[in-house]
Amino acid sequence: MKKHYDVIVIGAGPAGYVAAIRSAQLGMKTACIDNWLDETGKPALGGTCLNAGCIPSKALLESSEYYADCQDSAVHPGISFTSIKLDLEKIQHDKNRIVGELTGGINSLFKANGVISITGQASLQADKHILVSSQQNEKTFELSATNIIIATGSRPIDIAAATMDQHRILDSQSALQFTEIPEKLGIIGAGVIGLEMGSIWQRFGSKVTILEAQQSFLPAADGELSALALAEYRRQGLTIHTGACVTKTESHDKGVTVVYTDSGEPQRLEVDRLVVAVGRRPNTEGLVPAEVGLLIDEGGFIHVNEKLMTNLPGIYAIGDVVPGPMLAHKGSAEGVAVAELIAGKAMHINYSTIPSIIYTEPEIAWAGQTEEQLKQAGIKYRSGSFPFTASGRARAMRKTTGMVKILATENNDEILGVHIIGAHASELIAEAVLAMEYKATAEDLALTIHGHPTLSEALHEAALAVNGAAIHIVNRKG
Ligand code: FAD
Ligand code: NAD
Repeated sequence: MKKHYDVIVIGAGPAGYVAAIRSAQLGMKTACIDNWLDETGKPALGGTCLNAGCIPSKALLESSEYYADCQDSAVHPGISFTSIKLDLEKIQHDKNRIVGELTGGINSLFKANGVISITGQASLQADKHILVSSQQNEKTFELSATNIIIATGSRPIDIAAATMDQHRILDSQSALQFTEIPEKLGIIGAGVIGLEMGSIWQRFGSKVTILEAQQSFLPAADGELSALALAEYRRQGLTIHTGACVTKTESHDKGVTVVYTDSGEPQRLEVDRLVVAVGRRPNTEGLVPAEVGLLIDEGGFIHVNEKLMTNLPGIYAIGDVVPGPMLAHKGSAEGVAVAELIAGKAMHINYSTIPSIIYTEPEIAWAGQTEEQLKQAGIKYRSGSFPFTASGRARAMRKTTGMVKILATENNDEILGVHIIGAHASELIAEAVLAMEYKATAEDLALTIHGHPTLSEALHEAALAVNGAAIHIVNRKG
């Protein structure tokens, strides 16, 4: 007899594994089916985020930043190293150790919470049945559930002009596994992945060129921050061409020839390796036969309503496989919300305060609306900024690049957007998100006492500056 569950989750990425744990915590009999296998063929929970995304990229960003800082005697005047050794094999080994410990951690959390973990490829059938084929023991079996949560995530988009062979033309997953530092690295796409990958390998010594099709650089970020970031990345040595359309690539013995047009003029770029980072698309191919009738849009995203319900009763979808920002924390929030909804509780997700973070040096983090968005929407606002050059802590850390900008409504001072570029922006943004979640005013932040000397004082000063009351910079008149 086929096994029946209260909840079956398909996919154990940050959306799916969180949904499974929360469902089990709420007393529901829960199974989670996932198909990810590590390079040794063993199941590895955690999806893209843990195995090939957030975690390995941040491990390499940390190692490469440390390596770059050690080489630069200007980072900490008076401290210099006479010899620095880079052992990429050890760095990769250690990154894999971190990944292994975290994926193993999810296994333990599943066990502790009573989630049944199933390894295999799931396909959704009619009447909330699921067919699972296991690559490991070549078995196919069927399960059924009262509720199904689809969390199958996403994979890289490929483009005809640069077909990936995972040897010379690669996706981000392969670019996180280099065993040699490419002398010349090309990257197509100056989005989050392009910039993080570019930063890692540039710091390790590659000559990195990023080709971005759009004329504008990082258009999702506030314009002032994008401009500052572009200048800083170029100062660090990243070559970034915007308005560059790749038309052809040719792999050969020594590397890849990339042909692209820049302002209509044909250009050539010779690189050892080329990374394609032009976005990701949802994993829905082969997930469900057409006759089951699950609504999937042209881009492959599963159609859901505001409660993350698909068009089929009892079937939900969350994470990268549904429209919205492709972020781990967004998927996890949806995972909790759907589990609570299924258990009969109220669900809460505030999409307007989800933070976006780019883990380059300097880091960029923002939540809420940009100045450009407010202008376009005709919303009257006041702005307060504070540069890290005026922060005692940033100076003590020798990390003075960047600023904090707070945007608040003109009529009632409510914070609508916070934009940070600088050291630890990824951590500083949490205070802004909390403030916005509670609909705080700039004055609320300004009245909150911040520790001294901390980088968070820059947020405090920017909040004071919204109302012309900053202490450690000269306030704008009028
Ligand atoms: P996934 O993590 O993709 O997990 C889906 C899981 O389902 C996978 O294990 C997949 O193999 C499995 N699956 C798919 N189909 C089936 C099937 N039919 N049967 C069984 N299993 C199936 N986001 C951040 O917030 N912060 C970051 O710093 C960050 N860095 C990133 C760096 C890189 C290089 C990349 C590529 C992404 C990064 N992201 C980051 C994005 C983040 O990884 C994704 O948003 C997140 O993993 C999405 O979670 P998910 O659970 O929806 O899907
Ligand atoms: P992205 O959408 O961030 O950037 C893709 C870039 O490629 C865009 O700037 C786009 O204009 C450009 N592009 C598209 N087609 C092109 C072409 N043919 N030639 C040249 N440029 C082209 O996508 P990504 O960087 O691949 O990242 C995918 C997803 O993963 C994102 O949604 C992101 O949220 C997530 N991610 C998040 C983090 C983080 O939170 N720190 C890190 C990595 C990835």
